[in-house]
Amino acid sequence: MKVYLDNNATTIVDPHVFAEMEPFFVQKYGNPNSLHAFAGETHPHIKTAMEKIYAGIRANREDSVVITSCATESNNWVLKSIYFEYILTGRKNHIIISEVEHPSIIATAKFIESLGCKVTYLPINAEGLIEAQSVRDAITDKTAIVSVMWANNETGAIFPVQEIGEICKEYNVLFHTDAVQAIGKIPVSVQEFNVDYLTFSAHKFHGPKGVGALYMKKGKELTPLLHGGSQMGGYRSGTLNVPGIIGMGKAIEQAIDALDFEMSEIRELRDNFEDALLEIPDTFVVTPRKYRTPNTTLISFRGIEGESMLWDLNRAGIGASTGSACASEDLEANSVMEAIGADEDLAHTAIRFSLSRYTTQEELDYTLEVVKKAVKRLREISSSYAYTPSGHQSGLTAH
Ligand code: PLP
Repeated sequence: MKVYLDNNATTIVDPHVFAEMEPFFVQKYGNPNSLHAFAGETHPHIKTAMEKIYAGIRANREDSVVITSCATESNNWVLKSIYFEYILTGRKNHIIISEVEHPSIIATAKFIESLGCKVTYLPINAEGLIEAQSVRDAITDKTAIVSVMWANNETGAIFPVQEIGEICKEYNVLFHTDAVQAIGKIPVSVQEFNVDYLTFSAHKFHGPKGVGALYMKKGKELTPLLHGGSQMGGYRSGTLNVPGIIGMGKAIEQAIDALDFEMSEIRELRDNFEDALLEIPDTFVVTPRKYRTPNTTLISFRGIEGESMLWDLNRAGIGASTGSACASEDLEANSVMEAIGADEDLAHTAIRFSLSRYTTQEELDYTLEVVKKAVKRLREISSSYAYTPSGHQSGLTAH
């Protein structure tokens, strides 16, 4: 049996999304910006897809939603443009991010830090959550922007973006949120929250890879990262990725339609699976479920190296992860577990299972059996487990 439980890394393209994209490779391939009939075949479809994308995040017509090549580009764009507009010009000298942002934010922040910008890295608490008060405490009159993700890719922890947005408004500081892991899992509306910029990416909600977007509130438009032609209103030059945009439109429409299912059925599947995993002794989940996206479980198995567990899972046809796919080639401890202050042993033992609306009970039953066997096998050969009292030196508690 093959089981895919790494949906926070990427998702299968929904067959309806694929069907909608397909004609735009070989049959209708015109550049929508050209002035002939070939362009006319694609242009209206782009318009419809963009309407769906606006509706997907509840953006107003006057706001800008700009299609990029990925969320990494969107995140780079925001911080680098802020650097050019506010830091380099001396208007401001400080930005705030959380210490568990995706590498596309952390690495970009570190880059602009190396150019002289001050960066505050907000800590997470023992439950893996950001406290809104920490944003208030960090803001100074030189702060240009706060960038805090809507939901964390590793734990699924949902951060208090509504409160953070309000604080930013109060202090007149820009607010960006990386909503890559929130869309299609929990309701996301830029109208209800004070959000100036919002990043998202189609391949995380059953759309194609290589299509991201950046929402910019009216009046808060950023300097482009890619200069060139007048595509995307001049905000992002480069010939439009027609099939990709059409795919993102269909995918977000479907993700919104499936939201209730995700928040009820998928949540129930995840909860039952997690309950069963937690029956295995010495297992830990950090973030309480009520603060988590419905599809994600990051669980530590004391005494078991995460990569060893992945090996056993992989041999049984199961795809899971030890954390962010972007960091998985080096055998580093899970960064969120480290940020929480988990001891070395636990930080190296975290496995992420992320479900999707395609995940079935049968797949999870199978996975559970494989995990149980792997735990038994790996603990038997573990040099650390036998010596570890089944106590909780890390301060973590089993949920
Ligand atoms: N932000 C978060 C929270 C993510 O989880 C990811 C992907 O793992 C990204 C950004 C980057 O997305 P993309 O692959 O579209 O660059």
